[in-house]
Amino acid sequence: MLTNAKDNFAKDRLKVCNKCPEKNKLTGTCNVCGCLLKAKVKVIEEYCPMNKWKDIKEFKDRGLAVKLHDTDIATIEENENGSLTVSYKKPFKLNQKISDTKLTLEFINCRGDHEEFEYDTTLNNIRTSICSCFSVVLDKTSLKEAESAKLILKYNTKLEGEINKRLKIKTDKDIFVIALKGEVK
Ligand code: SF4
Repeated sequence: MLTNAKDNFAKDRLKVCNKCPEKNKLTGTCNVCGCLLKAKVKVIEEYCPMNKWKDIKEFKDRGLAVKLHDTDIATIEENENGSLTVSYKKPFKLNQKISDTKLTLEFINCRGDHEEFEYDTTLNNIRTSICSCFSVVLDKTSLKEAESAKLILKYNTKLEGEINKRLKIKTDKDIFVIALKGEVK
């Protein structure tokens, strides 16, 4: 899906590429994936093969990428153990309206980018599990190659203190874990 070049995520991605040693300055392509960067950054489902972009991270070499819809609300990072961490940037207020804690993530099936999954790229039976203090709405349970599903998370801010939870994305092929971090005060 091509998106408007003015979209912030495309500009932010290009800024990272422009500072990256893997950018071929003569051709404007990436030395790792071979893509033309000016076009690649505009495609919402694309991801950096070195996980350098700030809005989207792949579970390294596992064929599922997670895009953060609003990088003003949270950050997304890759962990050494292969999981991802999403951290809310600002603390919530105690008893804040649950609708004001909305965070949208997008799961993107990128198994087709990996040779080992060539004949088995569809993810089925997708569901999530997390502590009941989160409300979770996932709009699809099956993803073909390059398709994406939106997940809307809301947090019930009834207790003060740290938010430190694990969101599990279960599929018929694998289980993916996202640590969710934040604070209520
Ligand atoms: S896509 Fe990633 S590896 Fe390639 S130039 Fe951009 S930041 Fe560097």
